[in-house]
Formats: sequence, structure tokens, C-alpha cells
Amino acid sequence: MALLSVVLPAYNEEQNIANTAKVLSGLLEQNAIAYELVFIDDGSKDGTLKEIEKAAAENTHIKGAGFSRNFGKEAAIFAGLELAVGDAVIVMDCDLQHPPQIIPEMWELWQQGAEVVEGVKSSRGRESLGYKLSAGLFYKIMSKLIRMDMSASSDFKLLDRKVVNVLLELPERNTFFRALSFWVGFQTESVQYEVQERQYGESKWSFWSLMKYAIANATSFSTLPLQLVMILGMISIGFSIVLAIQTLVRYLTHTAVEGFTTVILLILIVGGFIMISLGIIGHYIARIYEEVKGRPKYIISSVTDNVAGSVLGAWKRQGERYGEKND
Ligand code: UDP
Ligand code: MG
Repeated sequence: MALLSVVLPAYNEEQNIANTAKVLSGLLEQNAIAYELVFIDDGSKDGTLKEIEKAAAENTHIKGAGFSRNFGKEAAIFAGLELAVGDAVIVMDCDLQHPPQIIPEMWELWQQGAEVVEGVKSSRGRESLGYKLSAGLFYKIMSKLIRMDMSASSDFKLLDRKVVNVLLELPERNTFFRALSFWVGFQTESVQYEVQERQYGESKWSFWSLMKYAIANATSFSTLPLQLVMILGMISIGFSIVLAIQTLVRYLTHTAVEGFTTVILLILIVGGFIMISLGIIGHYIARIYEEVKGRPKYIISSVTDNVAGSVLGAWKRQGERYGEKND
């Protein structure tokens, strides 16, 4: 019988774990789907890990691991994929904002042969205006950069074992899960869902963390900003040619040269262009530096009793993937 793994990244979600575990296990048992729940504690400062351990002790279908510090949602998702042993894996938020009622539908599509089932937001739920605007801008830019429509995409999706294995084999450390599932291809279906309201706790995203996330992901998926540097350079060259001609004409017609204002302005503009360009190039170099260092995406510091073996397996695989050069 096919097994479904549900991966749930959790950061400071102590109020949600028990409820989410209860809702999900109830729903899956009701639909007669063989399942396991994989909670990943992303270095929470509250009792999330304890709650996961408690849930795992109560229900053998539940397992989990905790990070040594906060590594971010991307890392938590990948750790979950690594720990999951199911034939199909669903990734979803553990605050139940991704409605569990959709899971049987995703499962059905998977049984009919879909290899990726994308959860597509039909509404964004209740969010502040600022959040809505910045998220809107973010998806506009992202969709342009990676040439895929991401406006309604989310981290809520089902992946076939085949796809999970492909994702785990990708050597990059700065991942963008949401876009990677588009990038790998495979036979994709989608289901619509309404974003629910968060019951307990609060969203972990601020405007700035969203902006940082946007820039990191845009540059991890596109080199377009680098081409922007080229365009800036061309603009300033075009400008200087016009200016050179103007100066030459003035020189020939013996018109007096004007004050320093133009010169200062030009220096400022060109200086600005150069600094922006260096900044963009610097950002990419920083990304290369991070990738080259080859550190793992996350460090697991503890696991629930029922998974010690598979975590060792995960570590071994990580070592094989990242440590080849050191042997
Ligand atoms: N999350 C995580 N690590 C982080 C931030 C968030 O694992 O550093 C998890 C969080 O526990 C939740 C999911 O990612 O399960 C989505 O986070 P949140 O609900 O705060 O985001 P929102 O729904 O507001 O976009
Ligand atoms: Mg949420």
C-alpha cells in the first residue's frame, strides 16, 4: 500500500503542533490513506520541539527532527523531504493555513498519475495591505525573472518520490522550493485552495524579511540583474557621447563653458551607476561564495526516537553529496 508523507516545517509553533497533528491524522485515517507526519522544528525558541516529541510519542505515524538553530523554511522543507520515506510527499505549513481538506484531492490526482500536484491559491486570505502589496510585487518580479507564472503558487504541493529524489540530488544550497518544483518539470496537475486564517501564533514574515527573501530568490533563479549592469553602462556611455558632441560644438562656436554644476552632477550619476553595478555583482559573488563553501543546508541536533536510523541515512547521503572532494 502506498505511503503518504506530510512534511511540516515549524518555527515557534508550539500552539499549533498538537492540533495540526490531530487534524491531519484524523483526516488521513478517515480517508484510509497510509501516512506519516514529518515535523521539522526549525530551531524554535519556544516549546515546538517538545510538542513534536510529545505528538510522536502518542502516535507512531508521527516523527520529527529539530535543527541546531533557525535555518529558514527552505532548509526545513528539504530536511523534511530527506526524512520522508513515502511514495508521495506533501509539503504544507503547520499552521493549517493550507487547508488539509485538499489532501485527499491531491492524493487522488497522484494515484491517477500526476507527479507534481501544485496547490494554487484562489484567494490570499486575510492579509494586511502592506503584505499584499509587497507579496504582489514579489511575484510579479519573480514571474518575469524565471519566466513562469508564479502569482498563485505556494509551498503547498504534493511530489512523487521520483521528484523528491531529483530535488534531493540538486547540489545547490540556496534553494527556492516553490520555483524548483516548476523548474524540474514532470507531469503537473494543480488544485485550487483558499488560504485559511492562522488560528494560533503569528506570521513569521515581516516586510523586510520578505524583501530579503525576494532578492535572494530572484538572484538564485536569474542573472537578469547582471545584465542590468550592462544596460546602466550603456546608458551612461550614450549620455557621455551626447555631452561630448555638445561640448565640441560649443568649443568650435566659442560659447563660454558653464560652471561646475554639470560636472558634479555627472560625477554623481556615474558614481551611482558604478556603485549599483558593483553592488549587484557583489551580491552574485556572495552567492557564489556561499555555494562554494559547501556547507550543509541545515544541521539536525535532535530527532524523535522513531527516526534515529533514517537520520543517519540522511546524514550519510549528505556527506556523499557534499564531501566527495575531501576523501
Ligand atoms: N517557518 C519555518 N521557518 C522559518 C519561518 C517559518 O519553518 O524561519 C514555517 C512556519 O512554522 C510555518 C510556515 O513556515 O509552518 C509558514 O510560515 P508563516 O505561517 O509564518 O508564513 P505565512 O503563512 O504568513 O506566509
Ligand atoms: Mg502561515
